[in-house]
Amino acid sequence: MKKVHTLVIGSGAAGLAAALRLHAEGVKNILLVSEGLRRGTSINTGSDKQTYYKLGMYGSEPDAPELMAASYFDNGSCHGDVALIESALSVRCFMHLVNLGVPFPCDSLGQYIGYKTDHDPKRRATSCGPYTSKEMCLALIRAVKAAGIPIREKCTVARLITLRRRAAGAVIFDNVKKSFDTVLAENTVFAVGGPGGLYAQSVYPCGHTGAIGLALARGAAAQNLPESQFGLASIKFRWNVSGTYMQVLPRFISTEQDGSGEREFLRDCFRDDARLNSRVFLKGYQWPCDVRKVPDGSSIIDMLVHRETASGRRVWLDFRSNPAGLDFKAISSEAREYLERSGALSGTPLSRLLKMNPGAVSLYRDHNIDLAKEPLEVAVCAQHNNGGLAGNIWYESVNISHLFPIGEVNGSHGVARPGGSALNAGQVGAFRAAEFIARSGNDDPLSVEAAERAAARAQKELETLLRGRRSWQDDRRELQARMTRAAGHLRRPDELGKEVRAAKKLVRAIEREGYLPGAGENGLINAQLAFAHWAYLSAILFQAEAGVGSRGSAAVLDKDGKIVPEDVSFRKKVLETRFDGQKFVHRFVDCRPIPHEDGWFETVWAEYRNGDVYRK
Ligand SMILES: Cc1cc2nc3c(=O)[nH]c(=O)nc-3n(C[C@H](O)[C@H](O)[C@H](O)COP(=O)(O)OP(=O)(O)OC[C@H]3O[C@@H](n4cnc5c(N)ncnc54)[C@H](O)[C@@H]3O)c2cc1C
Repeated sequence: MKKVHTLVIGSGAAGLAAALRLHAEGVKNILLVSEGLRRGTSINTGSDKQTYYKLGMYGSEPDAPELMAASYFDNGSCHGDVALIESALSVRCFMHLVNLGVPFPCDSLGQYIGYKTDHDPKRRATSCGPYTSKEMCLALIRAVKAAGIPIREKCTVARLITLRRRAAGAVIFDNVKKSFDTVLAENTVFAVGGPGGLYAQSVYPCGHTGAIGLALARGAAAQNLPESQFGLASIKFRWNVSGTYMQVLPRFISTEQDGSGEREFLRDCFRDDARLNSRVFLKGYQWPCDVRKVPDGSSIIDMLVHRETASGRRVWLDFRSNPAGLDFKAISSEAREYLERSGALSGTPLSRLLKMNPGAVSLYRDHNIDLAKEPLEVAVCAQHNNGGLAGNIWYESVNISHLFPIGEVNGSHGVARPGGSALNAGQVGAFRAAEFIARSGNDDPLSVEAAERAAARAQKELETLLRGRRSWQDDRRELQARMTRAAGHLRRPDELGKEVRAAKKLVRAIEREGYLPGAGENGLINAQLAFAHWAYLSAILFQAEAGVGSRGSAAVLDKDGKIVPEDVSFRKKVLETRFDGQKFVHRFVDCRPIPHEDGWFETVWAEYRNGDVYRK
């Protein structure tokens, strides 16, 4: 068995940054293990204008870490100390990316311009176009390679090794050789991304499944698992239809499964076309479904699209002709002025899109969808999980030492988050974890013999798992359908109990029966996905039964299908979830406030010099 100082699992924007920072901090003997440098969400996704969130630093508009932290914290169910850290380190992490060559725009005076994104009172957001996270990955990959950090690709981590609440490395499946081996590690940076494989209707890149289930199965505490983000996305090629895709006012049509019976279904639900088109326009910059914007806001569009698809019909955006009844004079002044100023107050949705954002058309053409010739199929899809594993202020798991969940798998966000803060959080987590690993000292060195024994046992179990009789495709379909049905943007507590029991049954069946030989990494991924879907459903049921109500992107429905209002007192609490070996244990803990540090330079300097800053 190989032993390294720090094992980094995952090569998205977060994992790459962690490997690079560890190296810069002087940590020797790092190994970066991943399914592939071209795998994961960061390098394969984007949006109309993919956003990165950081402290404002343009012109004379004042900003400060505590103000930015409040933008995280005020959305509720968020720990204030972590919010402050993600704010305080945002400039450092952003500039690190700038210095690596990520083309974030600045003016002739070197000022980094920003714009307002959702849940953002300032102009803290920036972007380098549709592919911000891809640009970040490409720059980070160049730097990781230049630093000579060892990378192992085409591998699926199948089990985390833990010794009495201490991380000890991982059992790895080589996807080419189809065999297992183990890497023991003093520290494990866990950067496996969001739970992309959990939902049937998803805008996570195809093939990105995430691996939070590996840590949940070892008892790592999680937080805010129910707080996911859903929104409208195209499904043939997975992409958010936000921004200009909505602002150009496409026709929303639905058809039977075979494409027949086309109709503009949204018109049935609106008193007048002007109101309908104004809502569609708003959806452009109010992309995630938000239960506060139902029924009198833009998220009514998500609900109506979902109702149509749930009834068995397919929904499409047609950019080739205008919606029936479109009258530019009658739409909201906001929409009209925007289109007028963009020189796009005429023509078809496609001509407006070509005028306002030609890249939005070529993007689909590059993926074999010609918006001039065909409509675009859409659905309400899972896009992001604000929750994830629970970390402390150094991004170390709160209950498994030497395990550092960073990036989307770390649940540092609350009910809502400013757009772009996921990318910031991943970079900050990488910096914090690397610094802590490099500088805090290790008073609990790994017991190699015990770790080897645990790894050998785990490897045996995994080999048995792949000599079974189940079909991984059937199980994947089952769990994804269950999550979309029960844990999407509409949740029915009276049906959730049954779904939790079915999820547990699937986990136990997989443990008992294993997968047909040949399932390989897909069987291993299923095992952790199934475990994760049990955890998510259990947390969602607990939250609904506790009376939290509808919030964020998800509406809780009562027996009559009515939206249960939110109990806002729960915004002061974070929901923690942990597996105790038999069942999931959930509890609400109070949000830690934003620390207000009125620091004194000499004192802080002394604490920094003698390493007190690293005592947790
Ligand atoms: C359509 C869309 C638009 C988005 N837009 C924005 C935006 O505008 N702003 C923003 O801030 N965020 C946005 N996000 C979210 C953001 O892109 C992600 O949260 C972020 O990229 C996650 O980065 P990560 O490094 O944590 O994970 P990822 O980039 O997903 O990387 C995970 C890595 O782990 C590897 N991995 C996973 N499981 C295993 C395993 N078992 N073994 C080995 N390796 C494994 C993967 O292969 C991959 O290398 C968007 C997301 C989507 C889907």
